[in-house]
Amino acid sequence: MSKIKIAELFYSIQGEGRYMGVPSVFLRTFGCNFKCAGFGMPRGESSTEAEDIAQVVHHYSKYEELPLVSTGCDSYASWHPSFKDLSPMLTSEAIADRIMEILPYHNWIDEHLVITGGEPLLGWQRAYPDLLDHPKMAGLKEITFETNGTQKLTPEFKEYLQEWARWKNREITFSVSAKLPASGESWEDAIQPEIVCEYEDVGTAYLKFVVATEQDIEDAERAAQEFKDVGFKGHIYIMPVGGVETVYNLNAKNVALAAMNRGWRYSDRLQVPLFKNEWGT
Ligand code: SF4
Repeated sequence: MSKIKIAELFYSIQGEGRYMGVPSVFLRTFGCNFKCAGFGMPRGESSTEAEDIAQVVHHYSKYEELPLVSTGCDSYASWHPSFKDLSPMLTSEAIADRIMEILPYHNWIDEHLVITGGEPLLGWQRAYPDLLDHPKMAGLKEITFETNGTQKLTPEFKEYLQEWARWKNREITFSVSAKLPASGESWEDAIQPEIVCEYEDVGTAYLKFVVATEQDIEDAERAAQEFKDVGFKGHIYIMPVGGVETVYNLNAKNVALAAMNRGWRYSDRLQVPLFKNEWGT
């Protein structure tokens, strides 16, 4: 039976993107190909918050005890090697059992599954079919992969997902948070239009850029054009930076106005005002 290293598994309201407001099970896998240490920092500088917490990781016995950060990647513990022991390897059976426990009716009603990370399309692609074929997952109708859009689907997984979606008209979404230079990652590594276009062979894909400044919005325009140039058809969302309310409040309105001015969609981060972006939300 396949196993997946799980950073978090919880039930909440989807706070971002197409499914904003929809009750959702979040499966956060461990591992990412990026660090995104630039978020919330002056351009060219890197946050050290995750590294600082890593130095005192022995103070924490559970994922939920870890401090929230206001700069860098807000889910740092889902990929930084210092926190790997807080993320257990679970079998598909154990994951399906845990999902049944946290769903309010202990079965799927109208909830949606979010497979997130870290970067959920790294090596775990080979493990998802075993989980999704589990009898306890039979009532699931909608899945979103929250990805940074740099990982190609393997031919086997692509075929599997196409078949999964055909059965009973189920729906697959790729919420692609392609990383702009403000993340600290390089354009060449982070903007991969051909890879993202291929997600549209499987389901609905949209781009969700995290922005804080005019420069970020210009970068989003340039990136959006590169995606369109290779035939990407999906919607474009922009979303304010900020895993904590003080940061988020600084720019949410301006981001909404920038979206309106370009015919793009605005994504909130409902988990911030509702739940203060605590772990498990
Ligand atoms: S891609 Fe996402 S999970 Fe990975 S480091 Fe960047 S923000 Fe964090």
